Amino acid sequence: MELEYTPVTAVPGVGEKRAEDLDKLGIRTVADLLGYFPYRYEDFRVVDVSEAVHDEKVTLKGTLYGSPSVRWYGKKKSRLAARMETGGVHVNVVWFNQAFLKKRLKSGETILVSGRWDAHRLQLTADRTWIGSGVNKHVGRLEPVYSVTGSIQVSWLRKTIHRAFVEFGREIREVLPAELLSAYKLPDRAKAMFFLHFPKGREEGKRARRRMAYEELFLYELKLLWHRRQAKKADRGMARRFDREKLEAFIRKLPFPLTDAQRRVTEEILADLEDESRMNRLLQGDVGSGKTVVAAIVLYANRLSGHQGALMVPTEILAEQHLRSLRDLLAPVDMNMVLLTGGMTAKEKREVLSQIQMGLADVVVGTHALFQEDVVYRKLGLVVTDEQHRFGVRQRSTLREKGEKADVLHMTATPIPRTLAITAYGDMDVSVIDEMPAGRQPVETHWVKREVWPRVVEFIGKACRNGRQAYVICPLIEESEKSDLQNAESVFAEIAETLAPIRVGLLHGRMTSAEKDGVMRSYTEGEIQVLVSTTVVEVGVNVPNATVMVIYDADRFGLAQLHQLRGRVGRGGGQSTCILVADPRSETGIERMRVMTETTDGFEIARRDLELRGPGDFFGVKQSGIPEFKVADLIEDFKILEVARADAARILGDPEWETNPEYEGLRAYLDSFEKDRPRFD
Ligand code: ADP
Ligand code: MG
Repeated sequence: MELEYTPVTAVPGVGEKRAEDLDKLGIRTVADLLGYFPYRYEDFRVVDVSEAVHDEKVTLKGTLYGSPSVRWYGKKKSRLAARMETGGVHVNVVWFNQAFLKKRLKSGETILVSGRWDAHRLQLTADRTWIGSGVNKHVGRLEPVYSVTGSIQVSWLRKTIHRAFVEFGREIREVLPAELLSAYKLPDRAKAMFFLHFPKGREEGKRARRRMAYEELFLYELKLLWHRRQAKKADRGMARRFDREKLEAFIRKLPFPLTDAQRRVTEEILADLEDESRMNRLLQGDVGSGKTVVAAIVLYANRLSGHQGALMVPTEILAEQHLRSLRDLLAPVDMNMVLLTGGMTAKEKREVLSQIQMGLADVVVGTHALFQEDVVYRKLGLVVTDEQHRFGVRQRSTLREKGEKADVLHMTATPIPRTLAITAYGDMDVSVIDEMPAGRQPVETHWVKREVWPRVVEFIGKACRNGRQAYVICPLIEESEKSDLQNAESVFAEIAETLAPIRVGLLHGRMTSAEKDGVMRSYTEGEIQVLVSTTVVEVGVNVPNATVMVIYDADRFGLAQLHQLRGRVGRGGGQSTCILVADPRSETGIERMRVMTETTDGFEIARRDLELRGPGDFFGVKQSGIPEFKVADLIEDFKILEVARADAARILGDPEWETNPEYEGLRAYLDSFEKDRPRFD
């Protein structure tokens, strides 16, 4: 009998009605029930009365003496009191509305009580009580607490799960190969599952949890890697050859030496180009870590292999900006680069399209227009996207289809811890630039209260009079409140008036994209010195002359967003400043301000953000692709995740993967995704 296919009604005491209620908890089969783990434990470990903390929950063990007394308040309410000796101390034990216990409270009986401790009166208000023979069984016990709904009660569920183990426990089958169990000294599956529900002590519970977390992450990674291997087999790319000499000569001619991290990720990408399977890689690097030059190098390699390349970005401004950077970087080599955006005139567009079709364009830079039907590539070999998170999963796959066999590289500045990136973007390989170019001056960050706002405006004015530019970001305000437009407009009006004749521009969500682009362009060209904006200033916008970033009501932004915003300054030579104006009301808000002033490291910020928000929120629930684990915690267990992933990769790569009986359980596990699971509804 396989527990995965055994309906939960097979457990004694579970009838149709109960099964319906269990269904609401996602429990349909015996396996579901056995794997419905507690979210915490009630702790009945006995403490010495001298260690009991006033007004906290404690469990005491002692001996009753004297005779108990009951006082009644009306028909139903009562207060039962007894005397107990514990560790040489005489204490009162009080029960409310449990008068029925009175006859069991005999002088000389051993008693175990758990409840709130009042150190002043030496009094325990009991909520759980065991007397006589029940005591020893419960001493030190950790009692599982489950999340329940409807008519299901925790105590019933606890009993039912226990019963299910008695009936079916020996049918729980091991999935992990013995080599892993012994390498990490993990308890076997049946034991771990049982002890996760009913641990005898902390240590045992921890070992059980560790085993189940490992199993969960290992199986997840195994499935992920296996799927990717299948996909790779089906998705043939091109094995490219290119002139390494020429490429190295170009790298030597760059205006700066590559950082070690840039070097490493470049090699990873080049290896993908040379490999016959199709590249689908995520290149992660904090704001300013230098992803553009990596893109330039691999676009050149792609050209040397005789192919066209495309660079896709979310906005026209970014397209123009990238084209400029690429032209600068690639100036020493002969590359024809063209721009293709939705905003071009029909004539311009026709000209560019024919260049692309004839293969005269080596690199095309643009927005979504790059993959419209009228664009016909001659020999597309590489597609690079920047700020990948701005493109949805669907756009990502259209792009892959359009590009036929082209290799795809997604670049993003969203700082996600590596293991999480691997998990969230399971369909991609991940390269990380985890190092900043030398000599970069970190942005000085200050957190100020709203009352000093006039001084902040003054500071902006001073920077502008010194020829610099500034951003002022206002948050989007929820609809129930006044509109964000008003908010930004009043800030805009105030700054424009106070700082005149300094030129101030306004950018908000209700402008058309042409209007927005117009304002951004004036700012890029320095016609506008201060930009007040509600919409997040485009990720990736590069105005090196801007050295001041003011974020109004900064506590309304998430950490990741604050970090992105701050990344808009500190891009030129000058010392840059970020001013967070906020009177945060919540602990989280205060913590965010603290994190921002303490570090400029995007990965560190991401880590702290994760702690504050949890992974689901961090990625945005819908897009996240992050699975919900039952036992594993992606933050706490990320070391286990790393290990589990390496183990999964190694085992899949084992030449005996298909034949070794050790891996039977794993093969069966993967197979189970091929066929549909029977349902009981
Ligand atoms: P991002 O990763 O945010 O896209 P960019 O590619 O725009 O970063 O690079 C940021 C700045 O750093 C650019 O001005 C670029 O010229 C410079 N840069 C990139 N790599 C290096 C390096 N190895 N040494 C010095 N400066 C570099
Ligand atoms: Mg960039």
